[in-house]
Amino acid sequence: MVTIKSKQEIEKMREACKIAYLAQETVEKAIKPGISTWELDKIAENEMIKYGAIPAEKGYPSGVKGVPDFPGSICASINDEVIHGIPSKNAILREGDIVSIDLVAYKDGFNGDCARTYTVGKVDKETQKLIEITKQSFFEGIKFAKKGNRIGDVSHAIGQFVEKNGFSVVKEFQGHGIGRQMHEDPGIPNYGKEGRGIRLESGMTLAIEPMVIAGSDGILELDDGWTIITEDGTKSAHYENTILITENEPEILTKK
Ligand code: MG
Repeated sequence: MVTIKSKQEIEKMREACKIAYLAQETVEKAIKPGISTWELDKIAENEMIKYGAIPAEKGYPSGVKGVPDFPGSICASINDEVIHGIPSKNAILREGDIVSIDLVAYKDGFNGDCARTYTVGKVDKETQKLIEITKQSFFEGIKFAKKGNRIGDVSHAIGQFVEKNGFSVVKEFQGHGIGRQMHEDPGIPNYGKEGRGIRLESGMTLAIEPMVIAGSDGILELDDGWTIITEDGTKSAHYENTILITENEPEILTKK
């Protein structure tokens, strides 16, 4: 079900989203060669708790028999890991790596969701470009996130921009509505056709999240039942914000 948020609900969304943003900022400062994703997880968790929020990804149900609920407070996906990497003491960042951090803060009944891909020390030019194109594709997409437009207009803009730049979007995972639930309708693919899908209305809150692969678009799931990796071993980047559809321009809620 697509939910339209009231003024009061939007204020609560703002607060949850701000905390998610602040947690990202704190994680970013901690990223350096030698740190583990487990340590980053603790930093993010403490930051969210400091502001009275709960890390909503912790304990998120897998929905699959035999696969445990998500154990981390963040998803931390290194290099060829696309999304849903499980924080681990054994996952140590090294110079030249990239790491995607996806986190959700839950406060006062509402969720705020954002993801970033960070560099660890110096990375090669192609990797830098992958991160920049992924981020820019989000902004290309939200140019169309306006009242009266359709989801397909946003999806199309993201996919076109990524492919024009020689990279691939992940097809099996997508952005989503967000509010009281972490994942609400509508689904927001990172590719699609203009003029298709539901119409955007003022008061919708959406997590738009391009997941981009440097090589081809195939993905695999690791035996842990969570971690998604690229099939061809090339790197992947992720960029996400929670936005609000308004009467005019969309507003990014995951900000300070
Ligand atoms: Mg997310």
